[in-house]
Amino acid sequence: MQGRIVPANAEWIAEAGQMIRSGALVAFPTETVYGLGADATNGEAVARIFEAKGRPTFNPLIVHVLELEQAVIIGTFSPMARRLTEAFWPGPLTLVVPRAATCDVSDLVSAGLPTVALRSPNHPVPRALLSEARRPLAAPSANRSGHVSATSAEHVAADIGNKAALILDGGPTTLGLESTVVSVVDEAPVLLRPGSLTVEAIEGVIGGRIVRREEAGTHLTSPGQLASHYAPRARLRLNAHDWEPEEAVLAFGAVSERPAHAFINLSTSGDLVEAAAHLFAALRTLDASGAKSIAATPVPPTGLGEAINDRLKRAAAPRS
Ligand code: AMP
Ligand code: MG
Repeated sequence: MQGRIVPANAEWIAEAGQMIRSGALVAFPTETVYGLGADATNGEAVARIFEAKGRPTFNPLIVHVLELEQAVIIGTFSPMARRLTEAFWPGPLTLVVPRAATCDVSDLVSAGLPTVALRSPNHPVPRALLSEARRPLAAPSANRSGHVSATSAEHVAADIGNKAALILDGGPTTLGLESTVVSVVDEAPVLLRPGSLTVEAIEGVIGGRIVRREEAGTHLTSPGQLASHYAPRARLRLNAHDWEPEEAVLAFGAVSERPAHAFINLSTSGDLVEAAAHLFAALRTLDASGAKSIAATPVPPTGLGEAINDRLKRAAAPRS
């Protein structure tokens, strides 16, 4: 049944909802482009999205929700953010907001950032799927990394077909262009990515010109690119084969546990999906242990290992 294109009718959407709840990936149409969706609260399911897309880095993903009521459990909406949702949700507007204290979405969705991107799709298929799954859906565009976004079920099948348990066919997408991404983390909204919702429409609601990404502070502009953004306070030592008892250890695979300040194995069985799902929480826990140094044992550079190593390298980069 891998990669099977099925009609997006009530029966198949119910089946897809069950699959999402069991951790599988389902591709579905939205009004913008096709998305590759997973239960956003399931770290391993989210890791499989990165694996399927073949992304060399953990870029943050957009979380799809039914409405603001569900979104406010995940993110903190300022009065300005609420105004934008009132004007444009459901629709092709993604809002980047601070993660809420009640956020149950995997750290991996945010790629370790303290923010989360949320949108409410205006298309009957993802809306019905959200109702059936009863989970927020993490869903980037359903294409291999670096390829163009898919606007039909056939494009999805050709590009990443064997990675999705099911492809819900809702015909070609109407807008064909990604959602507009606006950050409402600071007081003034910032346009992070132009898209289907026009800048003019947004400016009409905020009552003035929106700050462009290039004009905003670097902490907002390119979450994946900042070398030291994910750096823990402790020094991170890469490719460690040994460690001092006062160091914390971030292990992977068949590493025997010897005395250490703190010790976490990302996956004793050497499963990169499991490792990716636990990476950010593990870094945070080891940093909070108070150790001055974290020794990270080698992670193979294949598959998801490329993105894991990328993130570890960033965490080890000297602070500015
Ligand atoms: P895609 O994966 O193709 O759906 O694109 C998602 C877009 O949303 C990318 O441009 C991401 O950089 C952006 N994005 C998602 N989450 C965040 C976040 N927490 N902070 C900033 N940008 C985000
Ligand atoms: Mg994309």
